[in-house]
Amino acid sequence: MSNENGTVIVIEDDHHIADLVDLYLRREGFRVLLARDGEQGLALVKQEDPWIVILDVGLPGRRDGFEVCREIRAQGSLPVLFLTARDDEVDRILGLELGADDYLVKPFSPRELVARVRAILRRTRDVPAPQDVVAIGDLEVDLRRREARQGGEEVRLTTREFELLAFLSNNQGLALSRQQLLNGVWGADWYGDERTVDVHVAQLRKKLGSTLPLATVWGVGYRFG
Ligand code: CA
Repeated sequence: MSNENGTVIVIEDDHHIADLVDLYLRREGFRVLLARDGEQGLALVKQEDPWIVILDVGLPGRRDGFEVCREIRAQGSLPVLFLTARDDEVDRILGLELGADDYLVKPFSPRELVARVRAILRRTRDVPAPQDVVAIGDLEVDLRRREARQGGEEVRLTTREFELLAFLSNNQGLALSRQQLLNGVWGADWYGDERTVDVHVAQLRKKLGSTLPLATVWGVGYRFG
């Protein structure tokens, strides 16, 4: 997958949240680097020339998110999107002193996070649209028109079937677990069974047949491409 969208540094000590943010942003084509505390995060900011920093307020160690943001601001105009667990921190986040570009209050939807990141980057950079059409053999997944085509002919899919196909095609070559697919397509807050994934995969296989380059990876899940 290309890194045309640039690098995002995520400074967050909660592994669950960091992994989810990582998954969603990588799916959008970003290069994602994770830091667990402020020191590590600031070191990455200096080394990696990121486009944006996603910054948790409550961090372990000597510097909390406010400190880290102050430091980033002292060095330049890198966009910062804060994550906070507390509504009452919002005034401080948006205050003149820190001047964050945006914030999300936990728990947040990872899709919303992706939308906010894209909005910030549209303001601060001329970010190209994600790849419009993924083509493999006779199959085309048109992400802009949200349709799948087989030999040029549209194949009717339900919304979920298309989202699953789009997610798979954005993660070509990777073995994805059912849980990753659930998180990526249905959302982390969706309450359901991993068999839901199998049911939708079966539908895609039925509708697309051998055009669908999807392998079952035993003990893991599925791999596209
Ligand atoms: Ca935290």
